[in-house]
Amino acid sequence: MTDTVLLQIHEPGETPLPHAKDGSVAVGIDLGTTNSVVAVSRDQVAEVLRDADGAALVPSVVAFAPDRSALVGELARRLLLSRPDHVVSSVKRLMGRGLEDVKALAGQLPHAIEPTEEGQSKMVRLAVAGHRLSPVEISAEILKALKERAEDTLGQRVAQAVITVPAYFDDAARAATKDAARIAGLEVLRLVNEPTAAALAYGLDKEAEGLYAVYDLGGGTFDISILHMEKGVFQVKATGGDAALGGDDFDHAIAEHFLAERRAALGSEDLLTRSEVKLALMTARLAKECLSSRCSGCPRCEGGQRWVLDVGGRHSEHELDLAGMDALIAPLVERTLDIARAVLDDARVSPGDIKGVVLVGGSTRVPLVRARIGDLFGQPPLADIDPDEVVAVGAALQAEALTVGSDTLLLDVTPLSLGLETMGCLVEKVIPRNTPIPVAKAQEFTTYQDGQTAMAIHVTQGEREMVDQNRSLARFTLKGIPPMAASAARIRVTFAVDADGLLTVTAEEATTGVAQQVEVKPSYGLSDDEMATMLRDSLRNARQDMEDRLLAEARVEAGRLLAALDAALAADGDLLDAAERTTLDAAMRALRDAVSDGDRESIGGLAGDLEAASKPFAEKRMDRGIRAALSGVAVDTLDRPESTSKSS
Ligand code: ADP
Ligand code: MG
Repeated sequence: MTDTVLLQIHEPGETPLPHAKDGSVAVGIDLGTTNSVVAVSRDQVAEVLRDADGAALVPSVVAFAPDRSALVGELARRLLLSRPDHVVSSVKRLMGRGLEDVKALAGQLPHAIEPTEEGQSKMVRLAVAGHRLSPVEISAEILKALKERAEDTLGQRVAQAVITVPAYFDDAARAATKDAARIAGLEVLRLVNEPTAAALAYGLDKEAEGLYAVYDLGGGTFDISILHMEKGVFQVKATGGDAALGGDDFDHAIAEHFLAERRAALGSEDLLTRSEVKLALMTARLAKECLSSRCSGCPRCEGGQRWVLDVGGRHSEHELDLAGMDALIAPLVERTLDIARAVLDDARVSPGDIKGVVLVGGSTRVPLVRARIGDLFGQPPLADIDPDEVVAVGAALQAEALTVGSDTLLLDVTPLSLGLETMGCLVEKVIPRNTPIPVAKAQEFTTYQDGQTAMAIHVTQGEREMVDQNRSLARFTLKGIPPMAASAARIRVTFAVDADGLLTVTAEEATTGVAQQVEVKPSYGLSDDEMATMLRDSLRNARQDMEDRLLAEARVEAGRLLAALDAALAADGDLLDAAERTTLDAAMRALRDAVSDGDRESIGGLAGDLEAASKPFAEKRMDRGIRAALSGVAVDTLDRPESTSKSS
């Protein structure tokens, strides 16, 4: 049998997008806590995909309707204030988290955390718009929206993606991210650490070797990573951060200042109203963004320095310049620097050893942040690539490298050590943290009792010595060990970590070959049943979504046809005799009715009928047009409307 080879032909100067074998495109996705971005790369040049208004950022906010349909992005963000119980933001913080993990956060979360039901995984559920939703399902909606944006802008199917995750994401959070992608209909080519992606965007992987820092200050989180590049491998030497420190805290500091001024100016002793606080926060954010970009006057600010709070019929004015803002946020910026110093110590390097500092995250636009980073490291940070987009750019480059092949072989490392429980509740590390992946390592264990025929294997992740201080990943039992004297059996346990950082564990008794293998499904991941249900639901929704879209398109098409005929009848209706006119009117009425309450088939059918019925009319109009053109009248009628419209 011979394969038909289809040659792909491209416009001159246009090279193909990174293609999978089936012709679909692979993209890079920065799935952020506050905002997400999707990008695609060709010929190692990445392009960030924007909406019609040129915006690259998709707010990571999802609004749900009672029928479970979801709205993602800016529109959902606007609903956050008015319908808080229908909208979820910052769900990334809950990825791979169990109920116990988030109990501590309970008071701070806007949604009730649902207790898990019998038979379900220990993953948390949120009560949103009357649904019980896992963080995985909510993230899947964000990924679906990004996939759709890419498909709409590229006009091609998108089936694969490189998705970035924080360097400190553990196995459960990584697995949860992969599950979300599957539900969204995306095959994950690779999960890449966010700082690694940022370094890739700057081509640091092409340097011979060196130490780099990645400083990432987003909306609600701060992360700093020290990367070591050597022979094409990025090692995370150390990471640190604060999961509750970011640009939102800048907003708070500025808003508090505005509100203090407002109270003084209005002489009000009353408690602040909710709307006053909300408006102050929104104004603070605008002020911060205007001042940071040295705005010289936009509709909202007066030269970026004057702000008005107008609420409850009372008006207060506030002046704030860059120096004033710096003073308000300086303590917060210093906190990030303290953390950065601690992480440098942890990695046993001094600021002067760092060859470059990469800026990531919207809050690194604040001039004071850049200045202080420059002071600490003794060099200006790298900021040529938009800090909002740099992670997605790196992910897109990696997606291209993985699909069309390139000389860039990126290797990541395990973020945390993987080990086994041994006697005395101790942990024996099998793969230490920072081991380049993919990797497989084996270790031999033995039985500790005479005649022991089974051995419990407990896989853990973390740096601590005691089992209960680490995260428990999986438990399984190797059975069928032939009875032998204690210490005679030789049990070989192999840990294999794939390129995404996900683990498979195999145990084998060496003398008999009895073997057992588990793909580690983290305790907080989804059970296979839940995963299957979610996949089914998402397919069902996809079909419904497609139906809705086709119906909407049919309506638009029919509307266009009707409008064209209305215009033609107004101009040339005299061409039809009474009988012809009646037939045409009836066909138009039928289609109009179908557009308002018919289904897609009836609209399509009646539109076809109308086109047929209007054919004689179209021919007559064409005749008239040609005759008019031949007699030279057309030139006149073409000119006249233009000149009248100018004079009016
Ligand atoms: P995350 O990584 O959490 O998804 P981002 O990197 O998108 O977040 O950063 C969002 C934060 O960046 C918000 O606090 C926002 O106010 C801030 N930000 C965005 N643009 C600017 C700007 N021009 N100046 C200052 N801060 C900005
Ligand atoms: Mg980010």
